[in-house]
Amino acid sequence: MKKVLILEDEVSIRSFVVINLKRAGYEAIEAGTGMEALEQLKNNPDVGVAILDIMLPDIDGFEVCRNIRATDKQIGIIMLTARAQEMDKVTGLMTGADDYITKPFSPAELTARIDALYRRVGNDTGKDAEEIQQGPFVLNTRNRTLDKAGRRVKLTQVEYAIMKLFMQNPGRALSREDILAAVWGRDYDGELKIVDVNIRRLRIKIEDDTANPTYITSVWGFGYKWGA
Ligand code: CA
Repeated sequence: MKKVLILEDEVSIRSFVVINLKRAGYEAIEAGTGMEALEQLKNNPDVGVAILDIMLPDIDGFEVCRNIRATDKQIGIIMLTARAQEMDKVTGLMTGADDYITKPFSPAELTARIDALYRRVGNDTGKDAEEIQQGPFVLNTRNRTLDKAGRRVKLTQVEYAIMKLFMQNPGRALSREDILAAVWGRDYDGELKIVDVNIRRLRIKIEDDTANPTYITSVWGFGYKWGA
């Protein structure tokens, strides 16, 4: 059975999530503190998605997220937030979260997000955990390499970081600001143009037809979207 970890110190919310996870066919692993969550993940290496509350009695959800990501790139992570503002998208991206849900949320919304993320991360947390495969592309997060149809694509570290961001967020429109913050860092003071420049270079390297890009598409007036 597909396992989902729910880290939430408020028992009523946690129970609500557990009931709905079970209803959606998932096995729920529960934790009430950050340390407990990390312990549970150690005992259950096959957890595919973790839902992390941010405000917790011990270490906060971002810290838990950072801890998980230090050893596990593959697991899907959804942050639970009390308000939209609480989830600084940049903080989430920098700590390695994949998605976030704002309280209060409906059961349908929750399971839709988990289903989507589970599809994305797959069920395999074993030996291929360091590979993300989409279409003809294989991204290896341990060696920091990208292959297209079995051939190595030579990328700069920045290009690699953008590809990783795209492949961790397939089908999601990413703003230039999101990309800049995730790849260059929140304190980067440069221009958004640098994103466009790097995307242009990436397209030359990975698109079948650079004039008609199909993998990295433009979202007019906003940013870019990855699909393979
Ligand atoms: Ca809480």
